[in-house]
Amino acid sequence: EDLINQIKAGEVVERPYNIVKEVVENSIDAGAKNIQIELLDGGKQLIRITDDGCGIPENQILTALERHATSKINKFHDLESLASFGFRGEALPSIASISNFTIRSRPQNQEMGKEININYGNLLSEKEISMPHGTVIQVKDIFTNVPVRLKFLKSTATEFTHIHDFLIAMALANYHISFRFSHNGREVFHYHSKKTLKERFHDIVGVDAKDFVELNYSRGSFNLTGFAGLPKSAKQNPSYFITFVNGRYVKDKIIRSGVLQAYQGLLIKGLIAPAIIFVKVNPSWVDVNAHPSKTEIRFYDPASLQELVSIGIQEAVKDSVH
Ligand code: ADP
Ligand code: MG
Repeated sequence: EDLINQIKAGEVVERPYNIVKEVVENSIDAGAKNIQIELLDGGKQLIRITDDGCGIPENQILTALERHATSKINKFHDLESLASFGFRGEALPSIASISNFTIRSRPQNQEMGKEININYGNLLSEKEISMPHGTVIQVKDIFTNVPVRLKFLKSTATEFTHIHDFLIAMALANYHISFRFSHNGREVFHYHSKKTLKERFHDIVGVDAKDFVELNYSRGSFNLTGFAGLPKSAKQNPSYFITFVNGRYVKDKIIRSGVLQAYQGLLIKGLIAPAIIFVKVNPSWVDVNAHPSKTEIRFYDPASLQELVSIGIQEAVKDSVH
């Protein structure tokens, strides 16, 4: 079982970013209003994520740490959302098998919380503690027991950037949640809960927000929202290029090509402007077998998708230029 968890961990966890992704997604699923992410050394030394979500009842914590334990199947009605968010109940046991892992959790209706410490897959301690309601997950010294994987971790700066970019994306998609992020004891950002995507966008982009146009384009089951840089602000190296498909954070070259095509059609060649793009499509357009822990996605008809993204951006940019 321990070995299976470690093998599974290889699929779920490649680097600190994967841990942050799984744990933050759990916090969002738990209905958290406040999520705090603390890192040491790009997450290689420590990742601590604190939420004020629903918590885990004390008699269910150990179960949640077993493979294929998920409390979420009933919450999701279609297989698409199930598959795309990877609700498979493998994240926590995988993470606990390759780290010094501590979970503390307390549902609101429970007086005391429970703390469990697992050291590279071995249960070390289990005790009652007093704590605010919610869940704290602490992951220390990842891959110390898997030297080959430890060797593949990149510099602190690289691991930090992966996590930072992901958290910015999450903060946009979940603007109603407050996100607080610190690295090596220094606060990186603290975004308070907002009522609209636009407000959160302003928090993140600051004064540069005036160089963006809001997107809102629909055709059939295709819907495009978000923000795209205006031509005058287009830079060779966009500081923001964030894409979501059906709520899932992806890095997709089809959408990227669509953006490029839009700007080429409008003005300058070879230029890609900063953009934050939320694409919604009929779930049947997307290959759900793409691995849930990866950020790639496959469309059955990439050409049409690229075209729709391009048109959606062109319309918005054209309107605001003229
Ligand atoms: P999954 O998210 O696929 O269900 P995980 O291994 O990520 O599997 O988590 C296992 C279970 O632990 C979840 O189904 C949920 O019930 C519980 N859980 C994990 N994190 C939290 C959290 N932050 N708040 C409340 N419950 C949580
Ligand atoms: Mg999960």
